[in-house]
Amino acid sequence: MFEDSSAALENIQTVDLLAIAAHPDDVEQTCGGTLIRMAEMGYRTGVLDLTAGDMGSRGTAEIRIRESQEAAKHLQLAWRDNLRWPDARLENTITARMTLAGLIRRLQPRTVILPYWSARHPDHYRACEIGYEACFLAGLRRLDETTPPHRPFKILYSSLYANVTPSFVVDISRQFERRMRALLSYRSQYGDSGTASELFPSHQEVEERLAAVARFYGNLIGVKYGEPFVVKEAMQVEDVVAMNVRSM
Ligand SMILES: [Zn+2]
Repeated sequence: MFEDSSAALENIQTVDLLAIAAHPDDVEQTCGGTLIRMAEMGYRTGVLDLTAGDMGSRGTAEIRIRESQEAAKHLQLAWRDNLRWPDARLENTITARMTLAGLIRRLQPRTVILPYWSARHPDHYRACEIGYEACFLAGLRRLDETTPPHRPFKILYSSLYANVTPSFVVDISRQFERRMRALLSYRSQYGDSGTASELFPSHQEVEERLAAVARFYGNLIGVKYGEPFVVKEAMQVEDVVAMNVRSM
């Protein structure tokens, strides 16, 4: 059940920023602009999708993984892989946590993006819980003798699907179009076909919806497009005179 999928796991390199998501195309909808922006700043970014979305009514696991690798190029990711855990029935087991902790030790991200902890889809909040607990386990020296411990410094919760006030918003105005191209790489999900329905809207519908959400969050910080995040810690400010986002 927990088969390692590919060569990507063989020659793994470290990343600065790692997003962990339940399904292929989750990061493209929630934090892809931020991933692109960080890659543009020179950071090594990575995405680990826990399932291949094999319970979806369109496409197969193989197709969606292939599409996610194409999307990875638009997102300028240094690394992306898929654990092929069971879609729609993710479980927070010791095996799952240990597998993920082992990967985090090898990837050594300073910052990890997890899905927000409350969600409609059970896979999303389970991915959050498994991700958090794996980050903690990864820091235990005696977890595994062959890899050094590594505990991520910062955990960000991607809150776009959740109707909560973000702790901060990242300006993705310049990355928005590229993020859209990444999402549309999932042609099995967003291809315009005769079966377009409420569940599988047309290109235009998807673009309008994503643009509206990104505009909403951008508006909170006075820019065109934004992506929201929640952190559990207080935010530190060095210079209160130079702070961004107009008050009046
Ligand atoms: Zn999802």
